[in-house]
Amino acid sequence: MKEGIHPEFKKTTIRCACGNVIETASTSENIQVEICSACHPFYTGKQKLVDTGGRVEKFNRRFGRK
Ligand SMILES: [Zn+2]
Repeated sequence: MKEGIHPEFKKTTIRCACGNVIETASTSENIQVEICSACHPFYTGKQKLVDTGGRVEKFNRRFGRK
């Protein structure tokens, strides 16, 4: 068995723009992200905020979803 074949995994923290900190193991250190599982609309269920003013509804009306 030779050593040094596998990349070295270190304990690392991923910091999100929302303030959430995730501890994980990675080959890179101190990762910064703008969106994470805690603040991503897909996970929080806040998709409605994206559709302010009913833009999707207007779009559907204009382009023929009858
Ligand atoms: Zn986040």
